[in-house]
Amino acid sequence: MNKAFVREPDFDGRVFCPRCGSEGILVGSGPLDRYLLPEKRGKFPETAYCCTFLRCDVVYFTALETTAEVTDLARSAYPYDLDAPICACFGLNYDDVVDDTDDSQPTRIRNIVARSKTADARCASLSLDGRCCLAEVQRLYMKLLQEKS
Ligand SMILES: [Zn+2]
Repeated sequence: MNKAFVREPDFDGRVFCPRCGSEGILVGSGPLDRYLLPEKRGKFPETAYCCTFLRCDVVYFTALETTAEVTDLARSAYPYDLDAPICACFGLNYDDVVDDTDDSQPTRIRNIVARSKTADARCASLSLDGRCCLAEVQRLYMKLLQEKS
């Protein structure tokens, strides 16, 4: 292979989305197997990177710039589809977070926080970007609370 056509990952190991330039998040085969259509999955190696920038159509990419877009997904996924679960492990969705902002206590979110510490939480293989959803849940909750006030 001609090395000139291969963009090596930066020396610090960071890899950036070829479309929008956001830093990619390394994901294993779990999310790729789960979210990519089989024909697209076949074009990807064992691991890839996730672009989490919402306005970018690229969902997964490799250092060799193979890309998969939202239309290559085998299932709906948050945040591209707000009806899809935010929490891939336990199914908490957008409406649940909205309901929590209506209540005096965020009981649904607290329930997820508690369950995220159990062995049933398998974010690395179930979630789109392989990460725990709690940071996003918290961000969304705060945003919705602010919009209400
Ligand atoms: Zn991107």
